[in-house]
Amino acid sequence: MQELTHFIGGKHVKGQSGRFADVYNPATGEVQAKVPLASNAELDEAVAIAAKAQVGWAATNPQRRARVLMKFVELLHRDMDKLAEALSREHGKTIPDAKGDVMRGLEVAEFSFGAPHHLKGEFTEGAGPGIDMYSMRQPLGVVAGITPFNFPAMIPMWKFCPAIAAGNAFILKPSERDPSVPIMLAELMSEAGAPDGILSVVNGDKGVVDAILDHPEIMAIGFVGSTPIAEYIYARGCGNGKRVQCFGGAKNHMIIMPDADMDQAVDALVGAGFGAAGERCMAISVAVPVGEKTADLLIEKLTPRVEALKIGPYTAGNDIDFGPLVTREARDRVLGLVNSGVEQGAKLVVDGRDFKLQGYENGNFMGGCLFDNVTRDMDIYQQEIFGPVLSVVRAPSYEEALRYPMENQYGNGTAIFTRDGDTARDFASRINVGMVGINVPLPVPLAYHTFGGWKKSGFGDLNQHGPDAFRFYTRTKTVTSRWPSGTKEGADFAMPTMG
Ligand code: NAD
Repeated sequence: MQELTHFIGGKHVKGQSGRFADVYNPATGEVQAKVPLASNAELDEAVAIAAKAQVGWAATNPQRRARVLMKFVELLHRDMDKLAEALSREHGKTIPDAKGDVMRGLEVAEFSFGAPHHLKGEFTEGAGPGIDMYSMRQPLGVVAGITPFNFPAMIPMWKFCPAIAAGNAFILKPSERDPSVPIMLAELMSEAGAPDGILSVVNGDKGVVDAILDHPEIMAIGFVGSTPIAEYIYARGCGNGKRVQCFGGAKNHMIIMPDADMDQAVDALVGAGFGAAGERCMAISVAVPVGEKTADLLIEKLTPRVEALKIGPYTAGNDIDFGPLVTREARDRVLGLVNSGVEQGAKLVVDGRDFKLQGYENGNFMGGCLFDNVTRDMDIYQQEIFGPVLSVVRAPSYEEALRYPMENQYGNGTAIFTRDGDTARDFASRINVGMVGINVPLPVPLAYHTFGGWKKSGFGDLNQHGPDAFRFYTRTKTVTSRWPSGTKEGADFAMPTMG
């Protein structure tokens, strides 16, 4: 059995705490590795190394820092197959989807090439008599990221690429479910020329997360995961005076208007509802057809598509639609929710509960499930399922359909399918959700825009990636300067104004 390590100070470091977590192969149910769970002392050591390295890194000009990221991108392309394989082996997603995971992170590395531009300050000549005023963006020092299992390449890169390009040193605490790819990313950053200690991976669970939250030298924390943990991290991190951004769970609704292109809508729902076994924070988990005729047609067209989904291990080839859930526990939780939906009166049109795959009986597989007649009081509506389950909630009108995502506790993503520009525009304007698709089911903004949900899907005031990332990982200093040739006014005891 493989024993994984931490990656600290530019090298692999064996776990010292004596505590480990099992890393499974979700397709077979076998334990394939042990990941060490760091102690407070191991975190302290990583932070001390990072703090020392950060001083020189911040003093390195931003173009040179950006060039390290350029090299990193080249290495990601070189190792794409290796990364995707390692990712699929621990997460369970298909190889094309794993490559998408790496690519969406790589694109943020590319965006971070622009660090010299993003870090430029502002300058006012002659703000007063002989006085100039300028602002600059400076790195925070040592910053940290705590990331979820479902995008083990993309989300760590969303965090550390802009942070490092901005001159910080970064401590990554990835999910203990699939830690191998984050470690490989740190190796590649080292190979690309990041000085030792600029990117460290400290593996662990709640213990090390709490140590990060309380560490006086960690200045900022970027978190992505479930909402209860996001709320906890936001409260404790902010309570300790840190800058914190936390992105949480989701319940993404897609409204289908009677005038929508129904084939386009069905394709969109199948991909966005069941891709990655529904383990995406931007997955569409609720379809809201408007009007009974639209709903009946939607169910008629969706049913054979959900029944025909191809489920299997990533090794079965590229025409698999989705793989197993990440753990046995995750699958049992999803199956429990499906059972609750049946008990609470929803109509299970496609039942994937008994799905079995020969040779993979111990894998965490389940088939796609499609529910009709879901009502908003049911557990399958109230809770984030995070599995291959799509719920159809019928709405009699657009105004009623709009209320469902509006009144939902989450506000990550949403979509509307319609041919009517007026309705689409009204929806985009009024909806209280952070990311909106118009005839696009997964409106994940590209690297140069920012990603973030509203309500219980996001805590903090700046989004991930795009220009916000440079704002989050830097602080502004404003300088007011006068040279001896400027006006000498003598001592002034009143507040200086421009009056
Ligand atoms: P999770 O909340 O269980 O874990 C996320 C991170 O927090 C991991 O690193 C984990 O080790 C740590 N953690 C877990 N329990 C903890 C505790 N009690 N105290 C301190 N730290 C703890 O989430 P997950 O299951 O890995 O990921 C799935 C969740 O992430 C879903 O809810 C999904 O919607 C959400 N997600 C959100 C976004 C977004 O951008 N909004 C993106 C991806 C995933």
